[in-house]
Amino acid sequence: MLDDITEKINSILPQTQCGKCDFSGCKPYAKAIAEGKADINQCPPGGKTGILKIAQLLNVEYKPLNERHGVIKPREIAIIEENECIGCTLCILACPVDAILGASKSMHTVISDECTGCELCIEPCPVDCIKMEPLNVEDSESIENKRASLARSRYEFKQQRILRERNNTKANRVTTAEKKQAIANAMARLKKK
Ligand code: SF4
Ligand code: SF4
Ligand code: SF4
Repeated sequence: MLDDITEKINSILPQTQCGKCDFSGCKPYAKAIAEGKADINQCPPGGKTGILKIAQLLNVEYKPLNERHGVIKPREIAIIEENECIGCTLCILACPVDAILGASKSMHTVISDECTGCELCIEPCPVDCIKMEPLNVEDSESIENKRASLARSRYEFKQQRILRERNNTKANRVTTAEKKQAIANAMARLKKK
């Protein structure tokens, strides 16, 4: 039941994955609303329409955006001044939807169709070579929905990858511990001999 409501709220949220709601992404915020741990008016990218839809879904009263979380503004995308990029890869780590291409010590670039405009790559860039620029097109609802659906799957894919990498690191740690134990056992056997 709670999962159902979380899913329904998440499908209303814009999938910008910016964290302005004070949660690490749209789904955690959706879950917090479903559990009654967050208010319905904490998502600036979702705007008034998003709040209205959530209020209708939950049968609660509409309330304006809580501006502590930001302001409603037109959609933007990130652009990298490629000549200035030093290839540090920090922006890749920060991007919640893997919308930046590049490798260590080489120029980086943003895949504009996949950028959600979350702004999370701006602050980590040590040479300030990422700028936000307005998206100069008025998207229809169906284009917005397609964009949100792509962002949602790319966000979930990245989350799963991070989890896998963490588990692999843990598994490697166990192997190292096991190796240490094997060496200790061998040393003990040697001593006995
Ligand atoms: S778009 Fe940003 S503020 Fe809105 S729910 Fe998603 S992460 Fe939170
Ligand atoms: S490129 Fe920057 S602004 Fe665009 S989605 Fe990635 S982190 Fe967000
Ligand atoms: S954070 Fe800035 S300098 Fe580093 S790779 Fe990204 S764009 Fe280039």
